[in-house]
Amino acid sequence: MSVEWGCNYNLNARDAFVKNKFRMSLNVRLKLFKRFIYLSAFLFHFGNGVVEAGKTENLILITLDGLRYQELFGGLDLGVLKSTTKDKNIEGTKSYKQFWANDPELRREKLMPFFWREWMKNYGSVAGNPNKGSSVRLSNRLHFSYPGYSEILTGQARDDLIKSNKKVLNPNPTVLEFFRDKLNLKQNEVAAFASWDVIGFAAQHKSEAVFTNSGYEAYVHPDPVIQRLSQLQFEMLTPWDTVRHDEVTFKFAMAHLKSYRPRVLYLSLGETDDWAHDKRYDRVLSAISRFDAYFNELWSWLQLDAQYANKTTILITTDHGRGNLSLNWHSHSAQIKDSKNTWLAVISPDSPLRGEWADTDPVVMDQIAATLCKFIGLDYSEQNPKAGKPIAQLFE
Ligand SMILES: [Zn+2]
Repeated sequence: MSVEWGCNYNLNARDAFVKNKFRMSLNVRLKLFKRFIYLSAFLFHFGNGVVEAGKTENLILITLDGLRYQELFGGLDLGVLKSTTKDKNIEGTKSYKQFWANDPELRREKLMPFFWREWMKNYGSVAGNPNKGSSVRLSNRLHFSYPGYSEILTGQARDDLIKSNKKVLNPNPTVLEFFRDKLNLKQNEVAAFASWDVIGFAAQHKSEAVFTNSGYEAYVHPDPVIQRLSQLQFEMLTPWDTVRHDEVTFKFAMAHLKSYRPRVLYLSLGETDDWAHDKRYDRVLSAISRFDAYFNELWSWLQLDAQYANKTTILITTDHGRGNLSLNWHSHSAQIKDSKNTWLAVISPDSPLRGEWADTDPVVMDQIAATLCKFIGLDYSEQNPKAGKPIAQLFE
């Protein structure tokens, strides 16, 4: 995997040292000796399966429903835009003017400037760009939402049990419930805010095991602005009965974060999927662009707060991919092969990786639950021995 590392060491160089030590100049010997010292220090701290306690004390999981890796890594997809606009003058469309550039890296920065120029440059890394030899994929074979969220939240695909998006509690305990139990937290200290109503069910296998607010649901909060927004959500409707505006979900989550200071926050945003099903690519792009503004607001707040600054790991991912073609970009299913391909980003004081992952082993979505646990010093195999293991690259 080629990424920038916080501390650099090279095993091959050390082997070469042993073989060629008599031919080396003093300079090279000194350099390699330094590397050997770093390596020894590294093994001293992390050897024998003992992991030094990390800095992570809080976790934030964010999911962006059905956001394709194509937009995340490549920005506006011109073929898709052309397929959805009746106006033959593509250059005249608002989406083109706002988000187009010839270079894919410039395009994605236009769509998500904070994510790419700030987060991925200075604080985190992102896996799943097939053009760079990185893959993140679902292990469930259904490639729609409930199976995807359940795989993320329980660490295991259960195609035998989860076959629909029905509003039923998760058949298995989730990692959110595990956090509440193991970290001995109050209900509102493990909180899930979601635009889609089904998340309130998928997030737990026992009703009210964790705090949830999802879909069109009132949120009681002392701030009068939040109270007004809670009422307004029932008046300013989206085109969908089960998904409210992401803006409402985000504002509630921020208010909860500031007032109740959860150790674990799950923010589940949904508009990207529904606008895509409606073939409104312009709205998909504007939703992604708004997510980026939310990230900026969230991050700015975290940096000024003593409980969260430099002590919070953020993991961002999606529940499924979508079709790769102008014909099927709006859809996802077991039959659409590319909808198994996803991505994930991690911003953590305990992970030195920066930028895009390249030429590395594939990651599976059932590893996310155990990865979150490992960041906060827990072993998820205690709850689910069949769950995917922590993503090794993040802890090397
Ligand atoms: Zn969908």
